[in-house]
Amino acid sequence: MNDQSFDTQCIHGGYRPGNGEPRNIPIIQSTTFRYESSEAMGRLFDLEESGYFYTRLQNPTNDSVAAKICGLEGGTAAMLTSSGQAASFYSIFNICSCGDHVVSSSTIYGGTYNLFAVTMKRMGIEFTFVDPDCTPEELDAAFRPNTKAVFGETIANPALAVLDFDKFSKAAHAHGVPLIVDNTFATPVNCRPFEHGADIVIHSTTKYMDGHANAVGGAIVDSGKFDWTQYPDKFPGLCTPDESYHGVTYTERFGLGGAYITKATAQLMRDFGSIPAPMNSYLLNVGLETLHLRMPRHCANALAAAKFLQSHEKVAWVSYPGLPGDKYYERARKYMPNGTCGVVSFGVKGGRKAAEAFMGGLELASIATHVADAKTCVLHPASSTHRQMNDEELRAAGVAPDLVRLSVGIEDIGDILADLEKALQRV
Ligand code: PLP
Repeated sequence: MNDQSFDTQCIHGGYRPGNGEPRNIPIIQSTTFRYESSEAMGRLFDLEESGYFYTRLQNPTNDSVAAKICGLEGGTAAMLTSSGQAASFYSIFNICSCGDHVVSSSTIYGGTYNLFAVTMKRMGIEFTFVDPDCTPEELDAAFRPNTKAVFGETIANPALAVLDFDKFSKAAHAHGVPLIVDNTFATPVNCRPFEHGADIVIHSTTKYMDGHANAVGGAIVDSGKFDWTQYPDKFPGLCTPDESYHGVTYTERFGLGGAYITKATAQLMRDFGSIPAPMNSYLLNVGLETLHLRMPRHCANALAAAKFLQSHEKVAWVSYPGLPGDKYYERARKYMPNGTCGVVSFGVKGGRKAAEAFMGGLELASIATHVADAKTCVLHPASSTHRQMNDEELRAAGVAPDLVRLSVGIEDIGDILADLEKALQRV
């Protein structure tokens, strides 16, 4: 299947029906699977054979969709989770324990920031947040002997900062730890982080992958390139026997290509249970079948909207990495030559009050806590997704108090611009 082009994999990847079998990925809506003998089931529990026994651990619908995303990212193994938040949590917790430390870009999604800075801190895992545009020396200085990973977003939500893959991957690898990248906004259509030094990719599939605001979901993909066995003291969970799973040593039994995801499935999914409903994975797959068609349209519409806003007298500033002259334009061209995403940030002259008047005047675009689906929507992050942050934290996350996040959909661009114009006239 993997010798097929990217576009064909969007449609056919992960599932190949046999003669007379359903052409669509079947929704296997069953918690459990029947076996003829308990020995057969025992071999599955011991991870000696692969097969299904309980949907919290694995389900055929979920696995087919995970395999498609794995192929699109160019990875060796992948798993789905019930949300992007679960994917972020698992990606770190799979290799970190109480007493460990992680270096993260400060410009990350507000929910991820809270997960790292508050909830995982309570679990004894500390994060150092660095300015994504810091010097290599400043980045280097953030590492500690107990650092186990580096985390960043390809295109940060909502700051729209583009990750300097070279700088972050070099620093991570020089310190013997993997680079974990949230590729939600770019999607593998526009960026394949494994080609730029990332080791693990995560997604909120809730966004462009699903693309229709149908189902919350997440995914984790392993490149299979990070050699855990070089650092057995740093990653004992992957390199020494797991007493909670019949003494299996994941790197020995599943190799570099399979160890990380098998451990995340066998331990974290078993214990935390953030499995997606098969129905949601089915819906995600329907979205994936048109990802390669939708992303270029999102990008073209967003660029047109960014140019329109930039030239508008009532707009104070515009940020869009695909816009010539943008702070991240050159870096975006390096890592995403075919386009970035459909999200544009801007400020309306007059600050917060003007932003509220503008948003209230929109008709086609809705005010929604969402980005990256077919319908245009807007949000004021400082009073919603990022409201838990103080002003200093907002600044570090690249969120100005007047920032309006516009997620440009795939409607006709003429209608989108007319809506923006009408709403700006109300300011
Ligand atoms: N990562 C990014 C970049 C996001 O934008 C989001 C949600 O907005 C998440 C992760 C969390 O994903 P979910 O809402 O699917 O849990």
